Amino acid sequence: MYKEIYRIIKKYNKIVIARHKGVDPDAMCSQIGLRDSIRKSFPKKEVYAIGSAPQRFSYIGKLDKVDDFSNALLIVCDTPDLKRIDGANPKDFLYTIKIDHHPFIDDFGGLEYIVPSASSACELVMELILSTRLKCDSNIAKTLFTGLVSDSNRFLFPSSSSRTFGIVSKYLKKYPFDISSVYSNLYIRPLSEIRLKGYISTNMIVTDNGVGYIDITEDIQKKFGVDSAAAGNMVNDFNFINEILVWLTITEDANLGLIRISIRSRGPVINKIAEGHNGGGHKFASGAKVTTFEEAHELVKELDKACAEYIKDNKLGG
Ligand code: AMP
Repeated sequence: MYKEIYRIIKKYNKIVIARHKGVDPDAMCSQIGLRDSIRKSFPKKEVYAIGSAPQRFSYIGKLDKVDDFSNALLIVCDTPDLKRIDGANPKDFLYTIKIDHHPFIDDFGGLEYIVPSASSACELVMELILSTRLKCDSNIAKTLFTGLVSDSNRFLFPSSSSRTFGIVSKYLKKYPFDISSVYSNLYIRPLSEIRLKGYISTNMIVTDNGVGYIDITEDIQKKFGVDSAAAGNMVNDFNFINEILVWLTITEDANLGLIRISIRSRGPVINKIAEGHNGGGHKFASGAKVTTFEEAHELVKELDKACAEYIKDNKLGG
């Protein structure tokens, strides 16, 4: 499959690389890493990475503006569904390649390269580079490693396999870079966020069957001086709590007039439940979008039911 992807990349002079809306480091690093690798390998090609991104990701690199998609190849990283592609539609391109690690949702109409067991889209781009004549250097390696580290939550998730470590090991050997700066870019945060984390720990509600949730209203965000994206992302800080199997942040986004939910699990499968609330994602890391806190609490009830079944099936508790 990688040889086929390389063959298609070689064929097109203009290549646009997109990824999902609500960008995260894996989405952005996979598109920028791939863009820079193709540019390095084929200096005469026009290669662009598109989409919008918050200022806090500026350390990853600069995105491009493209008005004309004619005669171009589209590569979409880290995105399973058409509606979540940020700034591009496969219909406007001659051909589309998908490179993704989410469970399949929509066929983009071209080459679908999907490995749901991979830790990250960056892992797949790293493997693509290793398996073909695409070029790399320490900067590109660092970008791709950043996305991989972020999406695997520092190799915490079960998706971190021998394949993941094998790829990382090869990159560190071939294209050495400073690992500690990767971690400080990803994890340095203002004191205001740590104070909000304390608030979440103290006020998280835990249901009978182990769902931990917190409503982070606009008022709370203002009180702590933290924006909604950073507040929602704190879901990643609550792994390994004995009493909790599934946990979620329910965050009001006053600018968009919606409520964004980030869900994580230590056992029950959650993406099917998220799909019922304008969401989706991975089995154990999903998200959803709703318009009221009531609907969010309905989702909590469904997750609680899934936890009850999981506890029964796995003979936990008691
Ligand atoms: P997050 O909690 O935002 O980090 O998202 C966790 C996973 O769920 C990622 O793979 C996202 O792409 C996916 N996800 C988040 N929100 C949505 C949504 N509204 N619809 C579909 N997938 C989502």
